[in-house]
Amino acid sequence: MFSGETRQLTLAGLRLSLGKRPFRSRPWSSGAASRRFASGGTLIPQLTKDRYPDVCRGAFSELTDRHVGHFRELLGADRVVTDEDECEGFNVDWIKNVRGYSRCILKPKTTEEVSKIMSFCNENSIAVCPQGGNTGLVGGSVPVFDEVVIWTGLMNKIISTDDTSGVVVCQAGCILENLDNHLAEMGLMMPLDLGAKGSCHIGGNVATNAGGLRLLRYGNLQGSVLGIEAG
Ligand SMILES: Cc1cc2nc3c(=O)[nH]c(=O)nc-3n(C[C@H](O)[C@H](O)[C@H](O)COP(=O)(O)OP(=O)(O)OC[C@H]3O[C@@H](n4cnc5c(N)ncnc54)[C@H](O)[C@@H]3O)c2cc1C
Repeated sequence: MFSGETRQLTLAGLRLSLGKRPFRSRPWSSGAASRRFASGGTLIPQLTKDRYPDVCRGAFSELTDRHVGHFRELLGADRVVTDEDECEGFNVDWIKNVRGYSRCILKPKTTEEVSKIMSFCNENSIAVCPQGGNTGLVGGSVPVFDEVVIWTGLMNKIISTDDTSGVVVCQAGCILENLDNHLAEMGLMMPLDLGAKGSCHIGGNVATNAGGLRLLRYGNLQGSVLGIEAG
């Protein structure tokens, strides 16, 4: 998804159909991928804008204190990150190939908050970049320029599970492995498994139409999505 576009949708909640678990989960497939940002001595990638000078920033607003103040009022100070060092991990992709310079990370907890953020950004022409587990391998999860990052990590509630119809309703920031572990208790499983399952979010999985290890049986993930709530 192009990260400099304000009029995009941010997935906030999802309803998915599930697979029947044919066997117990495999203890040897850890797959958990760390999200830690390696600093101190490790080379960080060149800024994307310098690496690709032909890519131009859109005519979006520069972030002002008024904008940040509004986000703080909406989410509370602790869910609006502006510290440069803290922002760094959200600006660099998983394989440390590209780097943006966002100075504002927002951490909504509900669809309503996502919706309010998106309408404010739209009205004020502020570019946004939705980010889940930041395990994408093509640079889509990090800003190209100074887009505001909307991180879904606090939207991690499983809302309901129907073990008869095999339907789960959850927020976009649920970690894939947590969903799968939750379903395993009912003999169900996610129709998706991939190496980044310990870090990637279901919202990111749907946005990328992820394939993975169960692809041949269940197809790409969007085929299992029964509905989405978008802000
Ligand atoms: C070890 C490893 C193994 C992998 N194996 C596979 C594999 O087998 N198959 C496969 O398909 N991929 C694989 N991937 C790639 C990656 O894990 C998937 O693309 C995953 O679906 C991304 O999820 P995420 O939460 O990390 O999304 P992110 O990387 O955070 O974001 C990916 C894209 O989705 C957008 N996005 C994220 N959340 C939302 C949201 N709530 N609303 C709107 N847009 C959103 C972002 O803006 C970005 O464009 C692998 C990655 C790693 C590191």
